Amino acid sequence: MSLEGKTILVAGAAGFVPSHLSEYYLSLGAKVIGLDNFITGSPGNIEKLKENNNFKFFECNIYESIPELTEKIDYVFSLASPASPIDFSEIPLEIMRVNSEGTLKLLNLSLEKGARFLEASTSEVYGDPKEHPQKESYLGHVNPIGPRSCYDESKRFAEALTMSFHRKFALDTRIVRIFNTYGPGMRPNDGRVIPNFINQALKGEDLTVYGDGSQTRSFCYVSDLVQAIHLVMFGDDPTPFNCGNPGEVTILECAQQIIKVLNSSSKISFRDLPEDDPKKRRPDLTKLKNMSGYAPKVPFAEGIIKTAEFFKNL
Ligand code: UDP
Repeated sequence: MSLEGKTILVAGAAGFVPSHLSEYYLSLGAKVIGLDNFITGSPGNIEKLKENNNFKFFECNIYESIPELTEKIDYVFSLASPASPIDFSEIPLEIMRVNSEGTLKLLNLSLEKGARFLEASTSEVYGDPKEHPQKESYLGHVNPIGPRSCYDESKRFAEALTMSFHRKFALDTRIVRIFNTYGPGMRPNDGRVIPNFINQALKGEDLTVYGDGSQTRSFCYVSDLVQAIHLVMFGDDPTPFNCGNPGEVTILECAQQIIKVLNSSSKISFRDLPEDDPKKRRPDLTKLKNMSGYAPKVPFAEGIIKTAEFFKNL
């Protein structure tokens, strides 16, 4: 597929997932306009992108203002939100503002430019799910006042806002619900489990399992996620799609596998489980598979080795 002649706006371009998405679209020949305020994004993630003449970058806070963009824009990706539980406690108001006021600005821009808009929502909209695996039809079990609520509820709001623009103005919109994703480009101090475990394993430190490690997650390597997001953007269904990898592991198994794959001398130690930590999470990907034939390709061990290489070279 060639996207020559198309212009794509990526909000949050210096973030982990959006920087990979920007790279992918540059490789398809599109022009990419990246926006980021570096609150959690890192300049290192856009260094390589900046070498490409088709990449234009603006440092800005999208909930305050988006720079005047004179060119036509064909696709807008709303990916600007911080997404790690440590961000939820450190910058909750910034998270709520980017997902509400920031998303609103991106939706208005899409309307003005006649662009298709995609909201990067999250598996967090399901909260601590009572249905397992989670289908898109599951309405969720979210604590509206808990420590994760700044993210869960503002993403739920962003989905509602997106659907309101779709219904009221017939804006061409898409929604993806992203499940746990990992890969090169994550912050080493991101606080999420994969960067923590890999960095601990590389240093020979204990891997810190929260609780008894029986909670589950399903981890998707970033190139598979980029494919899933792409298939939704270029599909024709405005309703939400789960995006991720259905391979479910307990967090204890995840720690054991990382120690083994990286041939590390680290041991495992246990810490308190954070409040409202979801007990299980696994995407039901039937809807995406039926629409597009999507299947994740990168096995966990291979993804962990690639991510560890990235952290070693930082
Ligand atoms: N976790 C852990 N040790 C860590 C970091 C996280 O055991 O050093 C656990 C966390 O409690 C959760 C799971 O790993 O059960 C995934 O956490 P993460 O912060 O990566 O993302 P979440 O899916 O909770 O948003």
